[in-house]
Amino acid sequence: MAGYGPPRADRVIVGEAPGCTEAVEGKPFVGKAGRRLNEGLSAKGMDRLNVYITNAVLCHPPGNESPPPREAIRACHERLIREIRDVLRPEGKRSTPGKVLALGKTAGKALTGDSRPVEQLRLLLPAPNPYLGGRAEVRVTYHPSALPRNPAWSERFDADLGWLADP
Ligand code: URA
Repeated sequence: MAGYGPPRADRVIVGEAPGCTEAVEGKPFVGKAGRRLNEGLSAKGMDRLNVYITNAVLCHPPGNESPPPREAIRACHERLIREIRDVLRPEGKRSTPGKVLALGKTAGKALTGDSRPVEQLRLLLPAPNPYLGGRAEVRVTYHPSALPRNPAWSERFDADLGWLADP
């Protein structure tokens, strides 16, 4: 299932992998996690149609496995980085770098190469990115499907969407 959104955008969101609803509808984040994401974006005055949304893994993992199999993450990595770089072009026409928000540990690791927990990654970043260089600032936050587990995560997730929305 391909990414979805404007072919050129300066805001990108990366999830883990399509869930069952996404696999049927052929678009990322159209199920329950997607509803939470949409609410959060709207609250920050963002229309998700202006954001390019994709996943670290493009295929729905068999048995809804989370995290997806390591081979799938590895097989998709080059495509993920190329996809984001293409969307964020052309660099020269922007006055500021683009922004990429990774949702959850799988996307966070794919975009930073760092496998520490989201709690730590979200505090350390934005930092110079090993894959996107100066093209974009990358930030890692919680996956929306994890938010019901901890009300504090929900607040931080919304704050990170605020970072994405800021000019
Ligand atoms: N969860 C994800 O990580 N990606 C989707 O597209 C949907 C749910």
